[in-house]
Amino acid sequence: MTGVRSPGASPPEQTAMDVVVVGAGLAGLAAATELEAAGRRVQVVEALGRVGGRTASHHRYGQALDAGGGYVGVRHVRVRELAGRFGLALTPTAAPGASLFDLGAGPVRSDARRPAFNALAVGDALDRLDDLAAGVPPADPGAAPDAAELDRLTVAAWARREFAHPDARLLIDLLVRQMLAADPAEVGMLHLLFYLASGGGVHYLTAFSGGAQQDRFAGGAHQLAERMAAALAWPVRLGSPVTDLHAEHPASGGARPATGSIRVVGPNLTVRCARVVVAVPPGPAARIRLHLPGVRRPPGPARTRGATVKLHVIYDRPFWTDGGLSGWVTAGAGPLRYVVDDSAGRDGLGVLVGFVTGPDARAYGGLSGAARRTAVLDRLANWFGPAARRPLALLERDWQAEPTVEGCYAAVPEPGWWTAAGPPWSAAGRAGPASGALGGPVYWAGTERCAEFYGHLEGAVRSGQEAARWILAADRVGR
Ligand SMILES: Cc1cc2nc3c(=O)[nH]c(=O)nc-3n(C[C@H](O)[C@H](O)[C@H](O)COP(=O)(O)OP(=O)(O)OC[C@H]3O[C@@H](n4cnc5c(N)ncnc54)[C@H](O)[C@@H]3O)c2cc1C
Repeated sequence: MTGVRSPGASPPEQTAMDVVVVGAGLAGLAAATELEAAGRRVQVVEALGRVGGRTASHHRYGQALDAGGGYVGVRHVRVRELAGRFGLALTPTAAPGASLFDLGAGPVRSDARRPAFNALAVGDALDRLDDLAAGVPPADPGAAPDAAELDRLTVAAWARREFAHPDARLLIDLLVRQMLAADPAEVGMLHLLFYLASGGGVHYLTAFSGGAQQDRFAGGAHQLAERMAAALAWPVRLGSPVTDLHAEHPASGGARPATGSIRVVGPNLTVRCARVVVAVPPGPAARIRLHLPGVRRPPGPARTRGATVKLHVIYDRPFWTDGGLSGWVTAGAGPLRYVVDDSAGRDGLGVLVGFVTGPDARAYGGLSGAARRTAVLDRLANWFGPAARRPLALLERDWQAEPTVEGCYAAVPEPGWWTAAGPPWSAAGRAGPASGALGGPVYWAGTERCAEFYGHLEGAVRSGQEAARWILAADRVGR
């Protein structure tokens, strides 16, 4: 790969760049790709020893398995465009067969993808969510009717207040744990409604076929970041965490650049540039120190309630399909809340993907390796029979343990955050300049800086592309 530089390679310290992009996730790489296409000299710097951020893969038995983000929805048009541009194929996630619902009285088989709940109660709950979400402007959730009250209320408290039927309450509990990887008792109602409005509504967000989980990348989602990085003229500087952004003193005898010049600094990094795109999640972004007069950091939820451990349990074949099961499970108790079949086909290895979310993930992370394995295989054996106890491999990725992420699938703020802090993006409604004015030197990107498809790969790409457009527009104004 030509576009990735290891930490040992000599840095272009003497070369002032037009733009430094901090973070080589999809947001940062989307920004860099657009800026470079417009003729800018761009240096991407990345804390980790790899690109891709919250997309990453396990490589086992000749297959790449998405350890992080992987599913691509039918409305994720920018991701789809990039996939096509970089020569990557998408493959449908469809796994035909029956689902299992284990909501307290043992596993129940169903041909549907939702439990056999009271239809009226479920219809009412889903309609209420969609109706309320329709009133939340994603660019400014605080402007929604009753925003302050909705922000203060947790989802659990709202469901208790609004629905007498236990099926409606349980459905909402299951949805929040699935969509946000968080406990409904810790999530503000306004955040849930914003997330639904931003991402396309509850039906779309929870659907595989025709919904937000329609496809995945053949060969793994990590490839998109790798191919984008490889196509950049200036290789990504890996292993280079950024700690500080300084205003650069004028070069001796030289005039200060009109936009102001910035020194991007880390333990093994100094790069000068005119503009910076910070494309890192809100937690790590809050730790980057700003020494730039007049530049402010937009709010970002410093604490997050989201937590995920994503598991892959690999078998020599997808034996559950023998009995007509799809591999799909929804459970009312942890550790495994959701299981789906990510096998590449019916003739090869069987791959079950499990999600441990919210408080379950925090508790699970504290168990020994042996206790975690026993807990997972016990559950799978209960659902799929004794063969489930004999996997070829059980792989885990505990995203809450990753200091460059903090919050997954994406940051979930505490109740009250939205109306206290305001949106984490500029008034333009998407990524924008920290100074609040076109031409500001620091731009904040990342999926949590995007009002559209917040928390998704699509939101990351949009935020990066939008940051690039802001910079190009600012350059035109400043000319
Ligand atoms: C388990 C899991 C499953 C998911 N499933 C899906 C899914 O199916 N579909 C979907 O659309 N989305 C999914 N997501 C969400 C999706 O992966 C993210 O929204 C998206 O990848 C975020 O991209 P980003 O570029 O905004 O941030 P990131 O991918 O987090 O990239 C930020 C980069 O910045 C780097 N960084 C941080 N601090 C610094 C620093 N100080 N200096 C330099 N570099 C720094 C990080 O190392 C990282 O590489 C999932 C996420 C997880 C964790």
